[in-house]
Amino acid sequence: MLNLKDPTLLRRQSFIDGAWCDADDGSTITVTNPATGESLGTVPHMGQAETRRAIEAANAAWPAWRKRAAKERSAVMRKWSDLMLANADDLALIMTAEQGKPLAEAKGEVTYAASFIDWFAEEGKRVAGETLQSPWPDRRMVVTKEPIGVCAAITPWNFPAAMITRKAGPALAAGCPIVVKPAELTPFSALALAVLAERAGLPKGVFSVVTGDSKAIGKEMTGNPVVRKLSFTGSTQVGRILMEQCAPTIKKISLELGGNAPFIVFDDADVDAAVEGAIASKYRNAGQTCVCANRLYVQDGIYEEFAKKLVVAVGKLKVGNGQEAGVTQGPLIEEKAVIKVEQHIADALSKGARLMAGGKRHELGHSFFQPTVLADVTPSMQVAVEETFGPVAPLFRFKTEDEVIAMANDTEFGLAAYFYSRDIGRVWRVAEALETGMVGVNTGLISNEVAPFGGVKQSGIGREGSTHGMDDYLVIKYICMGGI
Ligand code: ADP
Repeated sequence: MLNLKDPTLLRRQSFIDGAWCDADDGSTITVTNPATGESLGTVPHMGQAETRRAIEAANAAWPAWRKRAAKERSAVMRKWSDLMLANADDLALIMTAEQGKPLAEAKGEVTYAASFIDWFAEEGKRVAGETLQSPWPDRRMVVTKEPIGVCAAITPWNFPAAMITRKAGPALAAGCPIVVKPAELTPFSALALAVLAERAGLPKGVFSVVTGDSKAIGKEMTGNPVVRKLSFTGSTQVGRILMEQCAPTIKKISLELGGNAPFIVFDDADVDAAVEGAIASKYRNAGQTCVCANRLYVQDGIYEEFAKKLVVAVGKLKVGNGQEAGVTQGPLIEEKAVIKVEQHIADALSKGARLMAGGKRHELGHSFFQPTVLADVTPSMQVAVEETFGPVAPLFRFKTEDEVIAMANDTEFGLAAYFYSRDIGRVWRVAEALETGMVGVNTGLISNEVAPFGGVKQSGIGREGSTHGMDDYLVIKYICMGGI
């Protein structure tokens, strides 16, 4: 079926305490290829009991893992990231099959995923404490940083590999074991990473992958007092539930939640560059990323020019099965996603939006959708307030800088924002005024392992990647030594 160089990367069992296993009751979930509707096989439908075992195994593995020198942990991690790169073709094939993104994007994600392991393998070596100036002559004061303990991660389907490594990287580097629950729709990428983790020499229990019932697994991960930290990437709605579930045991949490990214094009922008950035930001992964441009604000003077050029660029996108050469947009993840996109478009059209491109399901069927451009969009339309998570570019018109900043910030979300301008004063003013955790200026792509990824407002808590990414997995200890 899948033409893998190494077929052993495709596993149909979960990986707990260094062993491949089925659900206690033998039940399974079927994973389908969104481009064809075909079954790719099954994975175990596990619940609370299996999750508890993974957590206990992580706790048992913790003392030895934290005791290792950071440099030793780093060496194992480097091996893991090298194996990801060496197997990038197979990992990409698995990802495209279960997620739908074009093969080139999938391969890009594998590299991106490996980069987090590689980056944090280095960062782990640089975790350092402080010595303080004691206010007492007979006492000395130091601050150390320690691994927080057993970590749990719940990850989404839109980046089936990178959202795992972005959490596992800093956890492992800090000296913490981690139990991962991948999305039900894309578990095979996670399990392939586990195969490589085992090959790289990660000790048993340090990295486990539990597939199955998200509510039951989530309940155990959030309720079990052994888990000291939960990291979640997904919807704001589920993030809220998990935060609440973590409250009784006061867990440290990191949340990477929904976005509603504004993409602003000012009159003084390089319009061609803005169109290119919009295509990259909007249509990547068929619009299914939390940092995808969701609302495109274009200033009056260049509105029609931008719209026309965007439609031409959108016309060059090639929709199809991600495994075929030249395809730039795969299917949406599932039927539910298509229905949401259809609703947003219908709502906008009913309130006076102009359809400039696409607007319908693609002739390829399944969950394929035409890349779409809507003009004359207004704040009263659904696309203005909700994340569409699909290949729809809604164009709003604005007149002044103040007006567009107010519109851009008029959302409960605050993850990413983008804008195009060549006026240096405006660049600073707007970058500072946007209430988001990340801002792209004259670029539509901003994510990498070096930069802190995360949001403000209801887009989340914490930062992933970068030097700051370690903090979420460390606790500070103050030691005061007297009698000197
Ligand atoms: P999306 O809309 O991107 O699918 P979700 O927040 O629904 O985002 O899903 C992200 C991850 O959260 C997935 O792994 C999913 O299985 C998991 N999830 C969904 N609901 C729950 C829940 N109640 N408890 C724990 N995990 C959940």
